Amino acid sequence: MGDRAQGVGEVGVVTRFAPSPTGRLHLGHAYSAVLAHDHARARGGHFLLRIEDIDGTRSRPEHVADILDDLAWLGLEWDGALVFQSQRLHLYADALERLKERGLVYPCFCTRAEIAEALSAPHGSAPVYPGICRGVDPEPRMHLAHAWRLDMARAVADAGPLDWWDERAGLVRARPQDQGDVVLARKDAPASYHLAVTIDDAAQGVTDVVRGEDLFEATHVHRLLQALLGLPTPRYHHHSLLTGADGKRLAKRHGSPSLRDMRLAGVNGRDLANDLRNGTATVGVPPVSA
Ligand code: GLU
Repeated sequence: MGDRAQGVGEVGVVTRFAPSPTGRLHLGHAYSAVLAHDHARARGGHFLLRIEDIDGTRSRPEHVADILDDLAWLGLEWDGALVFQSQRLHLYADALERLKERGLVYPCFCTRAEIAEALSAPHGSAPVYPGICRGVDPEPRMHLAHAWRLDMARAVADAGPLDWWDERAGLVRARPQDQGDVVLARKDAPASYHLAVTIDDAAQGVTDVVRGEDLFEATHVHRLLQALLGLPTPRYHHHSLLTGADGKRLAKRHGSPSLRDMRLAGVNGRDLANDLRNGTATVGVPPVSA
């Protein structure tokens, strides 16, 4: 990518924690950060912090400040410069341009309501975009495009068979086609999570992506984008998610306290980090496997 200055160079293992500052961090984030941090430290590697603030309408500076305070409270130090995705939009735009030139993306004019309506027919698996705008001549109304979508069938044919490595699942055959023509950029958000994360992990020299298993499926798309953009493929460590006493996944919407709440209530963050490492936190924590 010619943009390694913001990473830390060639130092063996490099992991990262990449929160989106759209809300407060909770225990699940702490667990992921601890695992990513420890994975690097145990191998003499580097742990990076990247703020995924591409969604300008939902990202808030006060959440960034809390993220920094939360990590310090947990006793997790990161290496190198703090990277903000909002300062890297030109890189994502360049990559999108290259994909456009190869005919691998197309503009989409559908509103969310139109897509929802088209999907109202019963379907077996997760809803995927039904391809309404694929192959339609966009020229007369180009300025009305809401989004740019990957032409998945073309992209998969272009890239050929792909594999990636997951610590728990082993060698995984990439199946990005299950997710259909994913959005790579929107009018109001110049890069999707998929595009930005793929570019940044490569640009920062990340060798090991440690993150929750809720992002396992997304990795199929990231693997494809790596192939299309000529980027290296890191190793993946998708860890189990923390669950509450009810066995349900901990999430903000389930009312689990934020790290900020715990910090301000006087909880010892380093002790909490150790409890998460040892599986002795007062929530259902799976044994450390990443
Ligand atoms: N920014 C994403 C999130 O906060 C995580 C990205 C990743 O680890 O790949 O959910």
